[in-house]
Amino acid sequence: MAAQETDEHKYVYDFSEGNKDLKDLLGGKGANLAEMTNLGLPVPPGFTITTEACQAYLATGREPDGLAGQIEAHLQALEREMGKRLGDPGDPLLVSVRSGAKFSMPGMMETVLNVGLNDQSVVGLAAQAGQNDRFAWDSYRRLIQMFGKTVCEVPGEEFEHALDEIKSAKGTHNDLDLDADDLRGLVDAYKKIFAKHTGRDFPQQPREQLDLAIRAVFESWNAERAVLYRRQERIPADLGTAVNVVTMVFGNLGPDSGTGVAFTRDPGSGAQGIYGDYLANAQGEDVVAGIRNTVPLQELERLDKSSYDELLSIMARLEEHYRDLCDIEFTIERGKLWMLQTRVGKRTAAAAFVIAGQLVDEGLIDEDEALHRVNGAQLAQLMFPRFQLDHEFEAVATGIGASPGAASGKVVFTSARAVELAAEGESVILVRRETNPDDLNGMIAAKGILTSRGGKTSHAAVVARGMGKTCVSGADEIDVNVPAKRFTVAGQTVDEGDVVSIDGTTGKVYLGEVPVMPSEVVQYFEGSLDDEHVDNPLVRAVHRIMTHADGKRRLAVRTNADTGADAARARRFGAEGIGLCRTEHMFLGDRRELVERLILARAEGERDEALAALLPMQRADFEEIFREMDGLPVTVRLIDPPLHEFLPPLEQLAVNVAVAQERGEDVAKEEALLAAVRRMHEENPMLGLRGVRLGLVIPGLFAMQVRAIAEAAVAVVRAGGKACPEIMVPLVGAVQELETVRAEAEKIIAEVVGDSGVEVLIGTMIEVPRAALTAGQIAEAAEFFSFGTNDLTQMGWGFSRDDVEGAFFWRYLELGIFGISPFESIDRDGVGRLVRIAAEEGRAARPGLKLGVCGEHGGDPDSVHFFHEVGLDYVSCSPFRVPVARLEAGRAAVQTDGSDSR
Ligand code: ADP
Ligand code: MG
Ligand code: MG
Repeated sequence: MAAQETDEHKYVYDFSEGNKDLKDLLGGKGANLAEMTNLGLPVPPGFTITTEACQAYLATGREPDGLAGQIEAHLQALEREMGKRLGDPGDPLLVSVRSGAKFSMPGMMETVLNVGLNDQSVVGLAAQAGQNDRFAWDSYRRLIQMFGKTVCEVPGEEFEHALDEIKSAKGTHNDLDLDADDLRGLVDAYKKIFAKHTGRDFPQQPREQLDLAIRAVFESWNAERAVLYRRQERIPADLGTAVNVVTMVFGNLGPDSGTGVAFTRDPGSGAQGIYGDYLANAQGEDVVAGIRNTVPLQELERLDKSSYDELLSIMARLEEHYRDLCDIEFTIERGKLWMLQTRVGKRTAAAAFVIAGQLVDEGLIDEDEALHRVNGAQLAQLMFPRFQLDHEFEAVATGIGASPGAASGKVVFTSARAVELAAEGESVILVRRETNPDDLNGMIAAKGILTSRGGKTSHAAVVARGMGKTCVSGADEIDVNVPAKRFTVAGQTVDEGDVVSIDGTTGKVYLGEVPVMPSEVVQYFEGSLDDEHVDNPLVRAVHRIMTHADGKRRLAVRTNADTGADAARARRFGAEGIGLCRTEHMFLGDRRELVERLILARAEGERDEALAALLPMQRADFEEIFREMDGLPVTVRLIDPPLHEFLPPLEQLAVNVAVAQERGEDVAKEEALLAAVRRMHEENPMLGLRGVRLGLVIPGLFAMQVRAIAEAAVAVVRAGGKACPEIMVPLVGAVQELETVRAEAEKIIAEVVGDSGVEVLIGTMIEVPRAALTAGQIAEAAEFFSFGTNDLTQMGWGFSRDDVEGAFFWRYLELGIFGISPFESIDRDGVGRLVRIAAEEGRAARPGLKLGVCGEHGGDPDSVHFFHEVGLDYVSCSPFRVPVARLEAGRAAVQTDGSDSR
């Protein structure tokens, strides 16, 4: 180990000093190289410069005190261990300088191989390699190329161009056909390119090469693409990267050498087996660069059986050690295997479930841990229909999967055209460079949205997610020309009206219509899977993990459903009741006429007639839902939206009346309607006459609904069923509002229920901030609270969802004012605090007060965890989100360490 340990801050760790839990300090790559070293696996010796050194460098623009000395000490120790000196002309030690941050940022930062080569040591290297000149010059030209590009910003194409020239002069496409002389010539060409762009000669001092390379890796943390990537993936900007200095091993020493990557299981499906690629006689970056064709890893068994066997046993060892899928980079130097990297591998949503299930079977993890290994976002992904990609479809571009789903349709370039074609019944994909608020109508009309610019927080992405619409953003390979109504991609032109398909999960774009297949997971939940699929590994894993989540969770999961059909579907998805049954749709369709009469009523008699006609209809609606839910609780919200929503729009009505008058027709009725619409017009309908206010202003309206609910419950019970209605009063801000409604409702209920045994609870929504702040008083009059977090968010922030998401949210996200839209995931600090206050004060006033949430947040993974923490009794969400909420409620219940799953 390094000499002279002083009390100065430690910036450099030998691989033998670290371990896998030190990712913050050593980065993922360094921590795992240390872990493998300590497991006794064959890792080339080396050391790691910490992320703290990088942070200090980036803050001050220079290396922190003590760093240079510590690097020197560790380098000397390495030289002693290897019995070679860095860049020694006779027998040089060469190293790689590799970036490695806490979170893997594939391809974002830099690596320089073969540091230590110069005009002298290249000769020594050849001699050491058995007079293998070709190998030595190949290594040297790689150093100049990588060093030039990453350290000195020499345009990479220039090197590639020079390489191509030599190859075409030789009449070959294959690097391996270049001999030592060709490569020596290439080195000269590279040096000229280097000098031309940097104004200096390629540095011959090995230590200068090392220091410059380390500094370049530090600086690559702030390279533009790395900054963009971090923003995209919400990786904090101040973590910095570690730098790993690793003794070089050579996969390019001849046919008995090579390099490869491997996975311990298939990261696509989770299937067990051997997955990887191998490339003989090559250095690391060739595999990823796709310069030559790799062979499947299984081929290695034929090429080098003993290395192959050793690799398989190391992979098994790593899996057992990490208790998870690992991915691996390795190199073979003349028959000797070296491990260059491992990490817990990324995987698809399906593989995450399958692997978690398998690891339980194998006894490596328990079921609680399996629950940690998957998440609701993955389950949600598995519930979308997918493209069937068995044959011939190849993506022409890949952007960012900004809003999941699979959509095919005719390409349009303007919002207006999207609206036109959609009105003709066509499926359209709106293609833009980026969208803006003027595109909203087109986005609503389109099946999917494709943009060539912008990330996960762009306007297109935010709005599409809000609408639940498929979106691929930032597909920068496509070149959009709106005036010409076409885009080009991969040398092909796509005109308006041509069909494309976009996958909002993977970000892939296909030409033509890709067939879509239903989700097996949804079929499983619905019980409609045929026998052949019931036993598929994904369905088995989902079943097992969901069963465990249900066993663990404390939160009940209900659904938002307004019809018997929705209720039935949600029950199949596992809903344990209805948390929000909206009644407004029950006033539409052929009942409009009655509603108009109700609104236009001049005299009490007219109004009562309209209400009396509505009563049996509402009763039938509720009966259907109660029967469907068969004894599970059903929370019915009394009518909420402003009444004018049930009347025709003002402009249209005004025109109709004017035209009819012109023709001399009798328009008395229309005029009355128009007058009513004018009278009821509100500047701010969201803050106007709605919810409980309506119930207090229109006599008999709530009474009719309460009666319909109670009568329906009694009818179901009389017919031998069970019904548990809960009447929910919307938009309450003061206890007096609720008390007034309650007094009337209790009278009606008592009269209807009689001795039928039906019990009807009365509670309120908590969706106005004042209600949350006076929850102690309101609880006196409420048997339950249900948090309407959509309105609570709107009123808490003071913005209307319909207006703001398209208008400025993208900017707020860009500026980091929100990390995520507060309508997508609950704002814990603000709106969440209102929920917390109301829950605590409500329960203090009325122990046993039932608490639930019925806003869309009820199906959002992070929000579900919050509601678990706050101690609610249930969440309620749309039928499709019910499984996600079940899973996350289970995860919240077993979550003890707050570890993140990135
Ligand atoms: P990335 O993070 O982009 O994967 P790496 O630091 O892993 O970058 O380096 C890229 C490739 O360079 C690796 O896959 C490996 O094959 C090769 N490489 C890195 N260090 C060495 C080394 N010391 N000896 C041989 N090959 C190396
Ligand atoms: Mg790597
Ligand atoms: Mg509301």
